[in-house]
Amino acid sequence: MSLIVAKRGFVSSFITITLAWLAMLLSNSVIHGLVRVRLDLYQTWVGVQQNWEVSNLPSYYKALKSESITVYHFEADRDVALVVQDLIKDYFDVVASDLVTGTARRDGIKVVVSPTVPALESSLGERYGRNAMGAYWRGVIWVLSPVEWLDLTDPLWPEDFRRSGPVIHEMTHLILDRSTAGNIPVWLDEGIAQYEEFKQLGYEWIEPANRLDQPLYSLSQLADDFTGLANEPLAYREAHLLVRYLIESKGEKVLVRLVKSLAAGVPAKRALEKVYGSDFSVLERDWSAWLAGQSDALAGPDSQRGDAGWR
Ligand SMILES: [Zn+2]
Repeated sequence: MSLIVAKRGFVSSFITITLAWLAMLLSNSVIHGLVRVRLDLYQTWVGVQQNWEVSNLPSYYKALKSESITVYHFEADRDVALVVQDLIKDYFDVVASDLVTGTARRDGIKVVVSPTVPALESSLGERYGRNAMGAYWRGVIWVLSPVEWLDLTDPLWPEDFRRSGPVIHEMTHLILDRSTAGNIPVWLDEGIAQYEEFKQLGYEWIEPANRLDQPLYSLSQLADDFTGLANEPLAYREAHLLVRYLIESKGEKVLVRLVKSLAAGVPAKRALEKVYGSDFSVLERDWSAWLAGQSDALAGPDSQRGDAGWR
């Protein structure tokens, strides 16, 4: 009698465990499917915006297409367009592998090389176009022609443009936008884009205004009011240093986990708490202590920015 009861008990727990396991598998695949649908719908919407933007370019822009990358440019900027295309081909998968598991969508990449500052301003609007050397806006990468900030008679200009130009930065914004369905706040987006420029090219934006030997912004200030902060160069640098801290304390794959959470629609602060494994206030305190130990000596000789310009 007791043997039969034990056997029944074993069978029923086996069934319960199997059912729970099946339910978990099913719910995981449902969640995964919903995230996929969300990303695809978002990408379709971005595609509409992208097409609208490039269809409104003046007719004298030429289109240079290779693989999935189309660069719209003035005839005089053809060499610039070729360098832009090569940079994206060389770095897209490298940067994407830092941010997502598997492959990031690299279809339909559109870049506009604006020949002059006023041309870029008229495309982005005065607020975003002013002082910009690049932008990611409505699904399109916008780059100011280096004729505006480099000497193109110098045979080394392509190397200088590859290293200090905004292409890798803007391409990182594009990958993040596509991989999170737009669910990434500006401050985190800018922090990661600067981290990738630093990692891939050794480029870091340091200038007198964003030295660390001054009162610094708290993490809550960055997260709650990034674009409203008075010292924008400092806010940008601190956002970059938050990403550096996360990687130093939690390892290289922390960004993949963060982007995965954002892709599932988790709000940024909550996603940071998940990958850090503590409350936001603990992250804020730990990062602030780490930041106090950093110095401006971190900046190498190549870390100075040339002409100031947003990206
Ligand atoms: Zn940016």
